[in-house]
Amino acid sequence: MLLKDLKIKFQQELKGEYPQEETGSFFNLLAEKYFGMNRLQMALEPERKISAAEIENFETALQKLKNHHPVQYIIGETEFFGLSFKVNEAVLIPRPETEELVQWILNNISSEENLKILDIGTGSGCIGISLAKNLPQAEVLAMDVSEKALETAKFNAAFNEVKVNFMEQNILELDKLDEQFDVIVSNPPYVRELEKNGMQRNVLDYEPELALYVEDKNPLIFYKKITKLAKESLRQNGKLYFEINQYLAKETEILLKDCGYKACLKKDIFGNYRMLRGTF
Ligand code: GLN
Repeated sequence: MLLKDLKIKFQQELKGEYPQEETGSFFNLLAEKYFGMNRLQMALEPERKISAAEIENFETALQKLKNHHPVQYIIGETEFFGLSFKVNEAVLIPRPETEELVQWILNNISSEENLKILDIGTGSGCIGISLAKNLPQAEVLAMDVSEKALETAKFNAAFNEVKVNFMEQNILELDKLDEQFDVIVSNPPYVRELEKNGMQRNVLDYEPELALYVEDKNPLIFYKKITKLAKESLRQNGKLYFEINQYLAKETEILLKDCGYKACLKKDIFGNYRMLRGTF
Protein backbone atom coordinates (compact mmCIF):
# COMPACT_ATOMS: atom_id res chain seq x y z
CA MET A 1 0.00 0.00 0.00
CA LEU A 2 1.14 3.58 -0.62
CA LEU A 3 1.51 6.08 2.20
CA LYS A 4 -1.09 8.41 0.69
CA ASP A 5 -3.66 5.60 0.40
CA LEU A 6 -3.02 4.53 3.96
CA LYS A 7 -3.67 8.08 5.06
CA ILE A 8 -6.99 8.21 3.19
CA LYS A 9 -8.08 4.89 4.69
CA PHE A 10 -7.03 6.04 8.17
CA GLN A 11 -9.01 9.25 7.89
CA GLN A 12 -12.08 7.48 6.58
CA GLU A 13 -12.08 4.94 9.36
CA LEU A 14 -11.85 7.57 12.08
CA LYS A 15 -14.32 9.97 10.52
CA GLY A 16 -17.17 10.59 12.93
CA GLU A 17 -15.03 9.68 15.94
CA TYR A 18 -12.70 12.68 15.90
CA PRO A 19 -12.41 16.08 14.16
CA GLN A 20 -10.37 15.83 10.95
CA GLU A 21 -7.56 17.94 12.32
CA GLU A 22 -7.06 15.57 15.21
CA THR A 23 -7.06 12.54 12.91
CA GLY A 24 -4.34 14.21 10.87
CA SER A 25 -2.16 14.71 13.91
CA PHE A 26 -2.75 11.09 15.04
CA PHE A 27 -1.60 9.93 11.61
CA ASN A 28 1.58 12.01 11.84
CA LEU A 29 2.41 10.68 15.30
CA LEU A 30 1.84 7.05 14.30
CA ALA A 31 3.74 7.36 11.03
CA GLU A 32 6.66 8.83 12.88
CA LYS A 33 6.59 6.01 15.41
CA TYR A 34 6.04 3.07 13.04
CA PHE A 35 7.65 4.22 9.78
CA GLY A 36 10.21 6.61 11.20
CA MET A 37 9.00 9.36 8.88
CA ASN A 38 8.65 12.94 9.99
CA ARG A 39 6.08 15.32 8.56
CA LEU A 40 8.36 16.70 5.90
CA GLN A 41 9.33 13.25 4.64
CA MET A 42 5.67 12.31 4.49
CA ALA A 43 4.86 15.39 2.48
CA LEU A 44 7.75 14.66 0.10
CA GLU A 45 7.13 10.94 -0.32
CA PRO A 46 3.40 10.29 -0.58
CA GLU A 47 4.19 7.38 -2.91
CA ARG A 48 6.36 5.57 -0.38
CA LYS A 49 5.44 1.89 -0.25
CA ILE A 50 4.36 0.65 3.14
CA SER A 51 4.92 -3.06 3.62
CA ALA A 52 2.37 -5.44 5.14
CA ALA A 53 4.62 -5.89 8.17
CA GLU A 54 4.83 -2.14 8.69
CA ILE A 55 1.09 -1.81 8.46
CA GLU A 56 0.44 -4.37 11.18
CA ASN A 57 1.32 -2.14 14.16
CA PHE A 58 -0.36 0.75 12.48
CA GLU A 59 -3.62 -1.23 12.12
CA THR A 60 -3.58 -2.20 15.78
CA ALA A 61 -3.16 1.45 16.70
CA LEU A 62 -6.04 2.40 14.42
CA GLN A 63 -8.36 -0.08 16.12
CA LYS A 64 -7.37 1.32 19.52
CA LEU A 65 -8.06 4.86 18.36
CA LYS A 66 -11.53 3.74 17.26
CA ASN A 67 -12.08 2.82 20.91
CA HIS A 68 -10.83 6.24 21.97
CA HIS A 69 -7.63 4.91 23.47
CA PRO A 70 -5.41 8.00 24.00
CA VAL A 71 -2.80 8.25 21.26
CA GLN A 72 -0.11 9.02 23.86
CA TYR A 73 -0.67 5.63 25.53
CA ILE A 74 -0.66 3.87 22.16
CA ILE A 75 2.64 5.42 21.23
CA GLY A 76 3.90 5.16 24.81
CA GLU A 77 5.27 8.65 25.00
CA THR A 78 4.44 12.32 24.92
CA GLU A 79 6.10 15.69 25.08
CA PHE A 80 5.99 18.00 28.08
CA PHE A 81 7.91 21.23 28.53
CA GLY A 82 10.12 20.32 25.56
CA LEU A 83 11.07 16.95 27.06
CA SER A 84 10.02 13.45 26.16
CA PHE A 85 8.10 11.39 28.71
CA LYS A 86 7.16 7.74 28.70
CA VAL A 87 3.47 7.32 29.56
CA ASN A 88 1.22 4.33 30.22
CA GLU A 89 -2.10 3.70 31.91
CA ALA A 90 -0.51 3.98 35.37
CA VAL A 91 0.10 7.70 34.87
CA LEU A 92 -1.94 10.68 33.80
CA ILE A 93 -0.99 12.10 30.42
CA PRO A 94 0.75 15.42 31.11
CA ARG A 95 -1.46 18.39 30.19
CA PRO A 96 -0.49 21.73 28.64
CA GLU A 97 -2.02 23.51 31.66
CA THR A 98 0.57 21.83 33.83
CA GLU A 99 3.34 23.19 31.60
CA GLU A 100 2.06 26.62 32.53
CA LEU A 101 2.42 25.76 36.20
CA VAL A 102 6.04 24.71 35.67
CA GLN A 103 6.71 27.93 33.77
CA TRP A 104 5.17 30.01 36.56
CA ILE A 105 7.43 28.37 39.14
CA LEU A 106 10.50 28.90 36.95
CA ASN A 107 9.61 32.55 36.37
CA ASN A 108 9.87 33.10 40.09
CA ILE A 109 13.30 31.61 40.69
CA SER A 110 16.76 31.90 39.24
CA SER A 111 18.51 28.79 37.94
CA GLU A 112 21.53 29.60 40.11
CA GLU A 113 19.78 28.98 43.39
CA ASN A 114 20.25 25.63 45.09
CA LEU A 115 16.71 25.13 46.12
CA LYS A 116 15.02 22.13 47.59
CA ILE A 117 11.87 21.19 45.76
CA LEU A 118 9.14 18.67 46.53
CA ASP A 119 6.65 17.42 43.92
CA ILE A 120 3.69 15.63 45.54
CA GLY A 121 1.76 13.14 43.37
CA THR A 122 4.33 13.20 40.63
CA GLY A 123 2.74 10.62 38.29
CA SER A 124 4.88 10.46 35.15
CA GLY A 125 7.31 12.78 36.93
CA CYS A 126 6.61 15.61 34.51
CA ILE A 127 6.65 18.50 37.00
CA GLY A 128 9.62 17.40 39.10
CA ILE A 129 11.70 16.33 36.11
CA SER A 130 11.05 19.54 34.13
CA LEU A 131 12.02 21.60 37.15
CA ALA A 132 15.17 19.54 37.72
CA LYS A 133 16.13 19.92 34.07
CA ASN A 134 15.78 23.69 34.20
CA LEU A 135 17.29 24.15 37.66
CA PRO A 136 20.48 22.09 37.58
CA GLN A 137 21.43 23.24 41.09
CA ALA A 138 18.14 22.27 42.68
CA GLU A 139 17.55 19.15 44.70
CA VAL A 140 14.25 17.56 43.74
CA LEU A 141 12.21 15.02 45.68
CA ALA A 142 9.07 13.53 44.13
CA MET A 143 6.41 11.43 45.83
CA ASP A 144 3.59 9.26 44.62
CA VAL A 145 1.30 6.68 46.15
CA SER A 146 1.50 4.44 43.08
CA GLU A 147 4.45 2.10 42.69
CA LYS A 148 3.73 1.72 38.99
CA ALA A 149 3.69 5.47 38.47
CA LEU A 150 7.01 5.75 40.28
CA GLU A 151 8.56 3.14 37.99
CA THR A 152 7.56 5.27 35.02
CA ALA A 153 8.75 8.47 36.67
CA LYS A 154 12.14 6.92 37.47
CA PHE A 155 12.51 5.86 33.87
CA ASN A 156 11.65 9.40 32.76
CA ALA A 157 14.19 10.98 35.08
CA ALA A 158 16.94 8.71 33.74
CA PHE A 159 15.80 9.24 30.16
CA ASN A 160 15.94 13.01 30.59
CA GLU A 161 19.24 12.78 32.42
CA VAL A 162 18.25 14.44 35.67
CA LYS A 163 18.61 13.35 39.24
CA VAL A 164 15.33 13.26 41.11
CA ASN A 165 14.79 11.33 44.34
CA PHE A 166 11.59 9.34 44.38
CA MET A 167 9.58 8.17 47.35
CA GLU A 168 6.52 5.95 47.54
CA GLN A 169 4.18 7.77 49.86
CA ASN A 170 0.47 8.13 50.57
CA ILE A 171 0.33 11.80 51.40
CA LEU A 172 -3.01 11.42 53.18
CA GLU A 173 -1.39 9.13 55.73
CA LEU A 174 1.54 11.40 56.43
CA ASP A 175 1.67 13.45 59.64
CA LYS A 176 4.62 15.55 58.66
CA LEU A 177 7.33 15.93 56.04
CA ASP A 178 10.81 15.01 57.20
CA GLU A 179 12.60 17.87 55.47
CA GLN A 180 12.27 21.57 54.76
CA PHE A 181 11.69 22.82 51.21
CA ASP A 182 11.85 26.05 49.25
CA VAL A 183 9.17 24.96 46.80
CA ILE A 184 6.39 22.46 47.29
CA VAL A 185 4.30 21.77 44.20
CA SER A 186 1.40 19.47 43.53
CA ASN A 187 -1.10 18.60 40.84
CA PRO A 188 -3.24 16.28 42.96
CA PRO A 189 -6.48 14.55 41.97
CA TYR A 190 -9.21 17.20 41.80
CA VAL A 191 -11.94 16.08 39.41
CA ARG A 192 -15.24 15.49 41.22
CA GLU A 193 -17.35 12.46 40.38
CA LEU A 194 -20.11 14.88 39.35
CA GLU A 195 -17.86 16.31 36.64
CA LYS A 196 -17.53 12.98 34.84
CA ASN A 197 -20.64 13.80 32.78
CA GLY A 198 -18.80 16.40 30.76
CA MET A 199 -15.66 14.37 30.16
CA GLN A 200 -14.33 12.56 27.11
CA ARG A 201 -14.10 8.80 26.71
CA ASN A 202 -10.33 8.84 26.26
CA VAL A 203 -9.99 10.23 29.79
CA LEU A 204 -12.85 8.35 31.45
CA ASP A 205 -12.05 4.93 30.01
CA TYR A 206 -8.25 4.94 30.08
CA GLU A 207 -6.62 7.41 32.44
CA PRO A 208 -5.89 6.35 36.04
CA GLU A 209 -8.78 7.05 38.42
CA LEU A 210 -6.34 7.29 41.29
CA ALA A 211 -4.73 10.32 39.69
CA LEU A 212 -7.92 12.11 38.72
CA TYR A 213 -10.92 11.79 40.96
CA VAL A 214 -12.03 12.94 44.36
CA GLU A 215 -15.32 12.46 46.18
CA ASP A 216 -17.97 15.12 45.60
CA LYS A 217 -18.31 15.68 49.32
CA ASN A 218 -14.62 16.29 50.00
CA PRO A 219 -13.05 17.54 46.76
CA LEU A 220 -10.23 19.48 48.41
CA ILE A 221 -8.98 16.59 50.52
CA PHE A 222 -5.50 16.68 48.97
CA TYR A 223 -5.23 20.47 49.12
CA LYS A 224 -6.16 20.49 52.81
CA LYS A 225 -3.55 17.92 53.65
CA ILE A 226 -0.75 19.40 51.54
CA THR A 227 -1.44 22.96 52.71
CA LYS A 228 -1.11 21.79 56.30
CA LEU A 229 2.04 19.75 55.70
CA ALA A 230 3.64 22.57 53.74
CA LYS A 231 2.97 25.11 56.47
CA GLU A 232 5.40 23.27 58.74
CA SER A 233 7.89 22.39 56.02
CA LEU A 234 8.39 25.46 53.87
CA ARG A 235 11.56 27.42 54.48
CA GLN A 236 11.47 31.17 54.87
CA ASN A 237 10.34 32.66 51.56
CA GLY A 238 9.22 29.17 50.56
CA LYS A 239 6.37 28.82 48.09
CA LEU A 240 3.54 26.39 47.66
CA TYR A 241 2.22 25.83 44.13
CA PHE A 242 -0.90 23.96 43.10
CA GLU A 243 -2.68 23.07 39.92
CA ILE A 244 -6.34 23.47 40.85
CA ASN A 245 -9.86 22.65 39.77
CA GLN A 246 -11.12 25.73 37.91
CA TYR A 247 -14.60 25.30 39.42
CA LEU A 248 -13.21 25.30 42.95
CA ALA A 249 -10.75 28.17 42.63
CA LYS A 250 -12.34 30.40 45.26
CA GLU A 251 -12.70 27.56 47.76
CA THR A 252 -9.09 26.50 47.27
CA GLU A 253 -7.88 30.07 47.63
CA ILE A 254 -9.84 30.47 50.88
CA LEU A 255 -8.40 27.22 52.17
CA LEU A 256 -4.90 28.65 51.80
CA LYS A 257 -5.82 31.99 53.36
CA ASP A 258 -7.48 30.31 56.34
CA CYS A 259 -4.26 28.40 56.89
CA GLY A 260 -2.30 31.66 57.07
CA TYR A 261 -0.90 31.91 53.54
CA LYS A 262 -1.06 34.80 51.14
CA ALA A 263 -2.76 33.31 48.09
CA CYS A 264 -2.38 34.19 44.41
CA LEU A 265 -4.64 32.65 41.76
CA LYS A 266 -3.55 32.43 38.13
CA LYS A 267 -5.46 31.73 34.94
CA ASP A 268 -4.31 29.31 32.24
CA ILE A 269 -4.24 30.17 28.53
CA PHE A 270 -7.88 29.16 28.27
CA GLY A 271 -8.79 31.82 30.83
CA ASN A 272 -9.61 29.37 33.64
CA TYR A 273 -8.27 29.70 37.16
CA ARG A 274 -5.93 26.72 37.10
CA MET A 275 -3.01 27.63 39.34
CA LEU A 276 -2.61 28.82 42.88
CA ARG A 277 0.42 29.99 44.82
CA GLY A 278 0.74 30.26 48.56
CA THR A 279 3.39 32.32 50.35
CA PHE A 280 3.82 33.80 53.80
N1 GLN B 1 -6.56 18.48 34.25
C1 GLN B 1 -6.86 17.09 34.35
C2 GLN B 1 -8.11 16.78 33.53
O1 GLN B 1 -8.81 17.68 33.14
C3 GLN B 1 -7.07 16.70 35.79
C4 GLN B 1 -5.78 16.65 36.54
C5 GLN B 1 -5.97 16.31 37.98
O2 GLN B 1 -6.96 15.75 38.43
N2 GLN B 1 -5.01 16.64 38.71
O3 GLN B 1 -8.40 15.66 33.23
